[in-house]
Amino acid sequence: MTEPRRRGRPRTIGDIECSRCHHMVAKIRARWPEGDICGPCFTTAARTYGLCSFCGAQRLVAGQTPTGEALCRDCAGITTNLDCDNCGREAERLRGGHCARCVVTADLEQILAPHHPPDMRLKRLIVELAAVPRPESIITWMRQPATAALLTLIGTRELQLSHDAFDAMPPSKAVEHLREMLVAHRMMPDRGDRYLARFEQWLDQRLQTLHDTPTVATPIEQFARWHHLRRLRENDDPTRNMDNATRCAKQEITEAGRFLTWLLDEHATTIDNVTQGQLDAYLSEGTTTRTTIRNFIQWRARAGIAPRFKVPYRVARTTPPGLHATTPRPHQTRHRSRPRPPLHPHRRAVIAAVRHASRSDLPTHHRRRHQDTHANHHLPRRSARPHPPGTTPPVSPTPRAAGQ
Ligand SMILES: [Zn+2]
Ligand SMILES: [Zn+2]
Ligand SMILES: [Zn+2]
Repeated sequence: MTEPRRRGRPRTIGDIECSRCHHMVAKIRARWPEGDICGPCFTTAARTYGLCSFCGAQRLVAGQTPTGEALCRDCAGITTNLDCDNCGREAERLRGGHCARCVVTADLEQILAPHHPPDMRLKRLIVELAAVPRPESIITWMRQPATAALLTLIGTRELQLSHDAFDAMPPSKAVEHLREMLVAHRMMPDRGDRYLARFEQWLDQRLQTLHDTPTVATPIEQFARWHHLRRLRENDDPTRNMDNATRCAKQEITEAGRFLTWLLDEHATTIDNVTQGQLDAYLSEGTTTRTTIRNFIQWRARAGIAPRFKVPYRVARTTPPGLHATTPRPHQTRHRSRPRPPLHPHRRAVIAAVRHASRSDLPTHHRRRHQDTHANHHLPRRSARPHPPGTTPPVSPTPRAAGQ
């Protein structure tokens, strides 16, 4: 067996050698048949459960053979009392001869007062916290002042077990950790991914600030809700880095907003009337961060809101490594300066109609999803403007549909 992990205070140097870790210690905790056992080795031994290598029983294996194999107390000849006085479980005896599980239960019942008034969720929380594989970790967690304060507020019923109540608390790691724990134990509903929840908050605020400029707000809301929010919500890959995914979405939305503001300020125009020349000018004037609008421009074309534009890659000049630093594609940059005339409204209508027709080839569940999205989106009425009468409002293709 490997040397146990050091716990707590560093060991004082003494003149007794622990027979397990072979450190020189000032004080031993127990004298077992195998030799003197120091405090940290005792704690590790009293929390180790497994198969006894001699009798094959599955229980506390505090003892060790000379070659380090696990032994139960009986086979190792250990007579130290390692039975809980309260529940009888084989375990390290903490306060009052009680095991960690019994200590957690007693302390939480006192703090959370699950019976006054009766709250089934709190009763269940105590049972589940006492049943974790290492109840000692719950004792350590409860002793942290921030946690202790929160638990006390729950006990006095000043802090309700609801997301709204937790949102109203000053934000802290302790609040989020407790929230995660309550969600994990199903005492509070799962609000979904916390990064996604934060992204939604951010988006609402962002759209609020753009509210007075509908020609900017509407295209941004379409892009943010129909494309980004939808893809983030549809994510069913638990390993996906949602922190990263929501950051990228924020950056694309922010940069798209900057572009629309630039169009308004510099050319007194909107995205619906943008020309290839204006787009080229925007991309060539600023830093390479501006090419982040690529997805916005391309999504509008894919969704049938706008015609296709060329958004070339550019040589990274100021972009930090790894961020949109792509190899230039000569065949794309070559066409950059060729401006395209603005699209006549009638042609836009034709494009949208064609796109709509081609979408009806999608499998039924895709079409249904498109309709759902339309029914659920929260866009104001003015959003209908870019879509000609008689056509379905644009929808973001799913990643699968986009590749088809
Ligand atoms: Zn030791
Ligand atoms: Zn045994
Ligand atoms: Zn116990």
